[in-house]
Amino acid sequence: MFFACKDNGHRYKFDEATENNFACPKCGESLEYQDNSNIIIELKQMMKKNDQA
Ligand SMILES: [Zn+2]
Repeated sequence: MFFACKDNGHRYKFDEATENNFACPKCGESLEYQDNSNIIIELKQMMKKNDQA
């Protein structure tokens, strides 16, 4: 489970987000829950590349 600020895409784990009251410590944007399905897709694509290499 990850939280990210929309504008700059800084990504934090749940416990980091709660520690900062769901505000990005770097830029002050509010953090929003980010579904990790995109991350899984990225990982699959990386694995594919590794297979081909
Ligand atoms: Zn940020």
